[in-house]
Amino acid sequence: MSEQTPLDVPEGDPFGPHNLPYGVFSLRGAAQGDRRVGVRLGSHVLDAGAAAAALGSPYVSLLAQPTLNPLLAAGRTAWSDVRRALTAWVTVPAHRAVVEPLFHPLSDVELHLPFEVADYVDFYASEHHASNLGQMFRPDAPAPLTPNWKHLPIGYHGRSGTVVVSGTEVVRPTGQRKTPAETAPVFGPSVRLDIEAEVGFVVGTPSTLATPVPLADFRDHVFGLCLLNDWSARDIQAWEYVPLGPFLGKSFTTSVSAWVTPLEALDAARVTPPERTHELLPYLDDSAESVADEPGGYDLRMTVTLNGQVISEPPFSTVYWTAAQQLAHMTANGASLRTGDLYGSGTVSGPEPAQYGSLIELTWNGRDPLELPDGKRTFLEDGDEVTLSAWAPGPDGTRVGLGEVTGRILPAR
Ligand code: CA
Repeated sequence: MSEQTPLDVPEGDPFGPHNLPYGVFSLRGAAQGDRRVGVRLGSHVLDAGAAAAALGSPYVSLLAQPTLNPLLAAGRTAWSDVRRALTAWVTVPAHRAVVEPLFHPLSDVELHLPFEVADYVDFYASEHHASNLGQMFRPDAPAPLTPNWKHLPIGYHGRSGTVVVSGTEVVRPTGQRKTPAETAPVFGPSVRLDIEAEVGFVVGTPSTLATPVPLADFRDHVFGLCLLNDWSARDIQAWEYVPLGPFLGKSFTTSVSAWVTPLEALDAARVTPPERTHELLPYLDDSAESVADEPGGYDLRMTVTLNGQVISEPPFSTVYWTAAQQLAHMTANGASLRTGDLYGSGTVSGPEPAQYGSLIELTWNGRDPLELPDGKRTFLEDGDEVTLSAWAPGPDGTRVGLGEVTGRILPAR
């Protein structure tokens, strides 16, 4: 009987050869700056650049790099070619002797932010989330959704420089807040620190200034997706957001998973998005013939844990606006894309309370605290650790693991 090797991934492993997400790693104890592109297989990571070099692959220039950006910039044909090559390297027996020594156990590596984030945009694309927040914050409004909501994917530009990789600790932000009952604002650590369970889309191919990207070109520009936690200080946000939108209540930290899953690994997870209740303008209309054969939704099953307890299971398939519509909208004015642009879906909330993707919804603005083994919780306390994880249906009944994004709250400084 042959010895178990990194290439012998157990059947049913969500990180089998059907997945192959990309990340950036360094060996524990290695010199600072020795970062390499890695591809996850099972509980190991393949040094992709070393494999390319050892096998004489032309993709060594894309893979022997400290970030994913050169691969992202190479474009859709290269993404497919590299993925095909990687699949062969980890499945064809003839490559085994060369490739096997180039794997490292995940426990031996440190994972880094996988790409240099260019611009960061965050949307608000879940109807259930937007409707819940509308009910909480505009109880007297004629409808929970704002009049524009069904006509365009609402978003804002965030802060790319504070996007951090999973595992990075999150320092409680300090800022200005004022409740309607208070007569003057106060300054201090946020007392309503929250999460937002989201999916982040990673742009590879840039676009030209003044040239919108149509719905049908989504796959030519977007390389893959990751999990994203948009940490939110609700008290800072509530006082500052009118009239220009989120600012310091969001910009202190945004966490992303260490693995970027290529869209090509998620073809079996594509689903038709929720039924459209309003006629869409042509640039957003995904019922049009040219894009109707590419369903824009993704069936991603997310789980949120707080200190190890499952508190929610948001279904990404319920999100109203698709990633393709978000891309079309954010470029509709001619704004151009750069390699490394990241855009978040917005908080993913399903119709059921156990599917809400934020504490403000799960506790209904603090009214109904969560009962956890270590006590009641409305918003996050110092020391709390939140983890988002997810999987998607893969080919032939497999699962595609999307990894996790985790972060622990440190006291304000
Ligand atoms: Ca958000």
